[in-house]
Amino acid sequence: MHTQPQKSRLEFFTDTAPAAGEVTEIVDGVYWLRMSLPMEGLDHINLYFLRDGDEFVVVDTGLGWHVAMDIWRQVFKDSMNGAHVNRVICTHLHPDHAGLAGWMCRKFGAPLLMTMGEYFLCRLMAADTGNPAPEEGVAFYKRAGFTDEQIELYKTKFGGFGKAISPLPDGYQRIRDGQLIEINQRDWRVIVGSGHSPEHACLYSGALNIMISGDQLLPNISSNVSVWPTEPEGNPLEDWISSCHKLKSEVPEDTLVLPAHGIPFRGAHHRLSKLIKHHELALERLHKYCLEPKLSTEVYPVLFRRAINDGNRSMAVGESIAHLNCLRARGLMQRKLNEAGQYLYRST
Ligand SMILES: [Zn+2]
Ligand SMILES: [Zn+2]
Repeated sequence: MHTQPQKSRLEFFTDTAPAAGEVTEIVDGVYWLRMSLPMEGLDHINLYFLRDGDEFVVVDTGLGWHVAMDIWRQVFKDSMNGAHVNRVICTHLHPDHAGLAGWMCRKFGAPLLMTMGEYFLCRLMAADTGNPAPEEGVAFYKRAGFTDEQIELYKTKFGGFGKAISPLPDGYQRIRDGQLIEINQRDWRVIVGSGHSPEHACLYSGALNIMISGDQLLPNISSNVSVWPTEPEGNPLEDWISSCHKLKSEVPEDTLVLPAHGIPFRGAHHRLSKLIKHHELALERLHKYCLEPKLSTEVYPVLFRRAINDGNRSMAVGESIAHLNCLRARGLMQRKLNEAGQYLYRST
């Protein structure tokens, strides 16, 4: 359907990232709000808001903390001129995206629009806050190869999700793949992807040739694709790769992509192809590496260039298992428990 020639590189909307709290108009009625994040390795998020007649629609809300609230209050006053927000849309459940959705919905009496998978998982994870780490989690990380010390740290950190999220409203409006959402008399089509989160929504306007991509398509970093203790046999990496192929068929190469992290860019197909290749090559390296049996905690060197520490270990092991499970599902990897009760992976 889209036959534009492949671009050899990405074209960025601007060379310099705006300051935290700054609002940039992308095209008439589409605004980009940059916010800082107090997170190691990820220091900002991009949020967007769209004019809808005399009102506004917000897409992603920022982390549930006072700094983000203060910035939003300023934006409501200055950039929106005190206008009403009539809908809050969240691309997915992560706290940097959905953190202030509940707060904002209550403030304006506005409905929350999310996919079913994201809404319910978000509520579930927030409800885990204050609970002790589950047995399933401890067993998962023990089989993965965590040391006793690392398991203790997992237990201490369990339940942090809810602390970064203002409670979601108890009801929501479900959005689905392919659905059209009308904003300012223009249709925005929901394109669902999976792998980074269960049912991530991107929004595409054909009239503007713009896609708000959340974390489903980022220009510089590859989104985390992890297996978590709730679904230890899951295969999110195959979902992720299929979603990259799907996005290529759903939006043109010259779409202006508005990502949640990084600078808006053109070159969607180029970037998606690169992401697919990145994971396929990682799978090949992993397959070679596991000709000698390995624990999932022993495969970091073939998957990551960065050092693994207490702050990123659960993501790293989750991502390692995502690659290992993908190879297992493709019939290229076997797994068995060793005497210590840890999974050993061996390529076939
Ligand atoms: Zn995310
Ligand atoms: Zn994000």
